[in-house]
Amino acid sequence: GPRVGVLALQGDFREHARVLAQLGARVSLVRRPDELADVEGLVIPGGESTVMDKLARAYGLAEPLKAAIADGLPVYGTCAGLIMLADTVLDAIAGQESLGGLDVVVRRNAFGSQNQSFETDLGVPALGEPPVHAVFIRGPVVESVGADATALASLDDGRVVAVEQGNLVGTSFHPEMNGEYRFHEYFLGKVRARS
Ligand code: GLN
Repeated sequence: GPRVGVLALQGDFREHARVLAQLGARVSLVRRPDELADVEGLVIPGGESTVMDKLARAYGLAEPLKAAIADGLPVYGTCAGLIMLADTVLDAIAGQESLGGLDVVVRRNAFGSQNQSFETDLGVPALGEPPVHAVFIRGPVVESVGADATALASLDDGRVVAVEQGNLVGTSFHPEMNGEYRFHEYFLGKVRARS
C-alpha cells in the first residue's frame, strides 16, 4: 500500500492511523521534518488548531509542510486539520497561522453553543450513496469557497462542510470516529493517482 503519514503533534491521530492501516496504507506518524520526507500522502487530524499550529512551528514542520503542499502532496484534513489547510481562518486566536493551500475561508467553532457537537447525515455526491454520517465536534464551517476550490458537501442550510482543491481534501467533521472510511478512500485515490 501507499506510504501515508499522519501528523501526530496533537489530536486524534491514532484514529486516523487505524483507519488508514485498515485500508491497506503503510502508516507512519509524523512529528519531525525528516519524517515527512518519504510519505506519499498526509492526514492532518482533528484536535485543536491553535495548538497544532504552535507545535508545527516549534518543531520546524510548518515550512516543510507548506512546501510539500505546494509540491502537490495529497493531504486530507479533518476539523482542526481543515483549519490548518485553509488559506484564511476567522475567529483564530492572536498570532494563529495556518499552512494554507485550500482557497477557502473557514470560521473556527462556528456552530452555536447548542450545536457545538452534533451528528447528521450528509449527501456527498463525490462519494455516492449512502449519505455520510458526519460527526461534528466544535468544528469549523467553510464560509466561502474561492475560485480554485470546490465544495464537496453542505448542510441543509447551505453551509459548506467539505471541500477539495487538487490533491487537498478537508472536512469539518470526523469520519475517522464512526467507521466512515470513504473520505479516506477518496484521499488514498489521490495518493495512488500521484505515485
Ligand atoms: N475547535 C477546534 C479548532 O479550532 C477544532 C475541533 C476539532 O478538531 N474537533 O482547532
